[in-house]
Amino acid sequence: MRVKVYRRVVSYCISLMLIVALATLIAGNFTIANAQSKPEVRLVLQITIDGLRADLINRYANGFGKGGFRLLMEKGTYYTNAHYQYANTETIVGHATLATGTFPSQHGMVGNVWFDREAGELAYNIEDPDSPIIPTRKNETKGEQVDPAQKKSRTQGRSPAVILAPTFGDGLAAYYGGRSKIFGVSGKDRSAVSMAGHAGKAFWFSTNTGDFVTSTYYYDTYPDWVNEWNAQRQAEGYAGKSWTLLNDASTYLLADQDNRPYEADLKGYGRVFPHPFGEADDKLLHTRLLVSPIGDQLALDFSKALITHEQLGQNEIPDYLSISFSGVDAVNHFFGPSSLENEDVVVQLDRTLADLFAFIEKTVGLKYTLVVLSADHGMADMPEYMTELGYKAGRLDPDEIVAVANKAGQRLGVDEIVRFFYRPYLYLNDEKIAAAKLDRTKVERAIADALTDVDGIALAVASSRLSAQQTNPLLEQVRNNHHVYRSGDIYIIQEPYWFLFDKGPVAAMHGSPWRYDTHVPIIFANPIIDMKRVHRRVHPVDVAPTIAAFLGMTPPGSAQGSPLKEVLE
Ligand SMILES: [Zn+2]
Repeated sequence: MRVKVYRRVVSYCISLMLIVALATLIAGNFTIANAQSKPEVRLVLQITIDGLRADLINRYANGFGKGGFRLLMEKGTYYTNAHYQYANTETIVGHATLATGTFPSQHGMVGNVWFDREAGELAYNIEDPDSPIIPTRKNETKGEQVDPAQKKSRTQGRSPAVILAPTFGDGLAAYYGGRSKIFGVSGKDRSAVSMAGHAGKAFWFSTNTGDFVTSTYYYDTYPDWVNEWNAQRQAEGYAGKSWTLLNDASTYLLADQDNRPYEADLKGYGRVFPHPFGEADDKLLHTRLLVSPIGDQLALDFSKALITHEQLGQNEIPDYLSISFSGVDAVNHFFGPSSLENEDVVVQLDRTLADLFAFIEKTVGLKYTLVVLSADHGMADMPEYMTELGYKAGRLDPDEIVAVANKAGQRLGVDEIVRFFYRPYLYLNDEKIAAAKLDRTKVERAIADALTDVDGIALAVASSRLSAQQTNPLLEQVRNNHHVYRSGDIYIIQEPYWFLFDKGPVAAMHGSPWRYDTHVPIIFANPIIDMKRVHRRVHPVDVAPTIAAFLGMTPPGSAQGSPLKEVLE
């Protein structure tokens, strides 16, 4: 009898050991030795991949190695059906939504740029004349700016002052008495600043110098480790080199989508591989690095230095690091999301992520890390590509949009009724409408109707219509985008695959309410989070409340999303 019991216990123990061993094997680095109900999180690592439409990581999965995207897709809770719920799917809007858990109607970031009615000019989202960028070198040469939003910036100052809602990081700072270290790093200023929130510190890549910079909002002078990192002049090391494919061309799904006539050539960067970055004195050298896998590799290397020198994740007070990788978006803009360049930049980013996770394992331990991955928006295939495939689409000339609206104004007796147009918002001239003693609501509707008739415009929505109960889901997306001071009087929605701009230096665009722009991945990974794929519809406003709930905190103050139950169960 005793022998039998003993045997049963032994066999039970062996089974248990096998199960534990198997679980360890499956869960890999995210495994913890003993099950515990409350996770010990020392670092929240929030990764945002600019412009990573949700389907891209499936399309290119065959090219992925171990330890990058696969680590998260196969071991985390992976939401395959996450969509933004507002209309203007642009970079600052997405980042601010991920950071705050609320809509542009609340956080106020209605677009990368909007018309400042009081100043009578365009405002770039996070510009702040009171917080100038701290110079990194004595003689700074100016790089050529090609980012259409950055070009609208009036000053070189940057801060989160205009973000009108608290972020997850702000809540973390409050919860732990200011002891959590909170950082945002990115190739783009707006993506670093928004995620770092008001209480954190932000660093971003300067296309002028190739250095990582910050502003006086965060520091008086650079920390020594930042000076040391910049002194290496890593960006300059790429002068004279080219972006080449990581793998053999024949292994790529889109190998024959390299030389397409509608791709943009960044002044000598070319439409086909290899893409030369240019010489050291080329004013586009640093910009071209961002339009390649190199920008992401530099962001990773800088982040490693930050983790080491700021000692992130070394004790029981959780720290927060946001890294927003900008390469996929930049490449999408110049070459389109169905290009060989897009495939290679995502495949190379997979290796960058593997490098990041290996570094985190070594320094913090993945078992002490909550990894969250998402994107700020998706991307549209170019109208020329879609037309070639049989779906007719085109580009709308902004001047023509203004002309149509002005013509409608003339019919009401007002000349030049449009004060300003910058996609997607049209701003009307209040003084002229008042002087003509016209009913403002009727004017807005008449112009919106005239615009809706234009080929390529799906719907123009007068802001005055947004308060009413509506059943059209597009109107709900416009309403979520509407901030009472910053939004325009009429929101213009293009037809699917149409662009609200002519072909300029960039070829492809996002920013519509259509599904290719709203669809992004959301993945959470930590030892106590189950590995599963969730196909129900969820939303990026849920991300910040979920991180907060995972840490036992209340959601950011203005959050409208809800914690995702699969992460917490
Ligand atoms: Zn973006």
